[in-house]
Amino acid sequence: MSSASLSTFAFEPNPTPLAIEDRAKLLVDPGFGKVFTDHMAIVEYNEGEGWHSARIAPRGSVTMDPASSVLHYAQEIFEGLKAYSRPDGGAALFRPEANARRFNDSARRLAMPAIPEEIFLGSIDALVRADSGWIPQGEDGALYLRPFMIASEVFLGVKPSSQYLYMVLASSVGAYFKGSTPAVSLWVTREYTRAAPGGTGAAKCGGNYAASLVAQAEAIRNGCDQVVFLDAVERRWIEELGGMNVFFVFDDGSMLTPPLGTILPGITRDSILTLARAQGITVREELYSIEQWEADAKSGRLTEAFACGTAAVVTPIGSVASAEGKFTIGGQSAGPLTQRIRSMLVDIQRGNAPDPYGWVK
Ligand code: PMP
Repeated sequence: MSSASLSTFAFEPNPTPLAIEDRAKLLVDPGFGKVFTDHMAIVEYNEGEGWHSARIAPRGSVTMDPASSVLHYAQEIFEGLKAYSRPDGGAALFRPEANARRFNDSARRLAMPAIPEEIFLGSIDALVRADSGWIPQGEDGALYLRPFMIASEVFLGVKPSSQYLYMVLASSVGAYFKGSTPAVSLWVTREYTRAAPGGTGAAKCGGNYAASLVAQAEAIRNGCDQVVFLDAVERRWIEELGGMNVFFVFDDGSMLTPPLGTILPGITRDSILTLARAQGITVREELYSIEQWEADAKSGRLTEAFACGTAAVVTPIGSVASAEGKFTIGGQSAGPLTQRIRSMLVDIQRGNAPDPYGWVK
């Protein structure tokens, strides 16, 4: 990680940090997104002044006027990335510049101001330094960082806000999925779609997730772990899961993932494309229909499928159900290519393999 961040971020230490022994208990099995650290980063924005008041402060509540525009029109974006502890005892981030770029792409789509990349990266760097003792040591342990930006102008008119609050939270996490098998079960929603051409599918805005919850609830009601969305126009092309991209593996050793456009451009997806292609694996970014997926799974042409994302890393898909029926893929554990891709990625992230692309910061 680069230095010079705490010098630009004022540091207000938490006067009552959690006792070390209490923290150690929480870090044994932190789950996902429930355990928060002692500090948070805050930067404020007003039209005219620009970005100002960058600081690391004790984690605590935010007082907001009930007419703050984010509470009414959902002008909000976020990011998600992880800090890993390194074999040498330090902490490292995985491709944080890619998150900075995507954050600003989301900002543009939601008519919000871009945040200079050095402030975005500096906020994360400073927070990880302040709370590096919160990284769990287990195999899946990491500090999940959640940068987000909300519209804070007190105004009920529908227009881009003139004021924003940018913050970063840090959460100690373990594995995202904790089932009895490593494979996840998917539910194909036929009723709901996630993103239409011209919409906000490629942006990481809270509204996309609010709109996905009813479909995710449908998946859970049908005994599945995650929902898979189809395209909004023809309702047949596989797009992505509620919070992950998808890859398909075929019996000729090639792979396929849906093309960018209405899906979130996952940083894990992009990293896997690079790693797989460097291994000489053919990876197509092409449309793939739900009917073809079922036919290929049944004929044996499709041998593996996996979901990927910062939180889920690389997770095998074991079965796919919908109102029309259910099909299974391979076994209930990760297939050989899924395992290989996962290891290549995780070994770079955790400093156990060389980093030829300079992804680890
Ligand atoms: N799709 C969606 C809808 C997501 O929320 C995420 C998680 N950010 C992903 C894909 C995976 O993106 P990444 O690999 O950058 O975490």
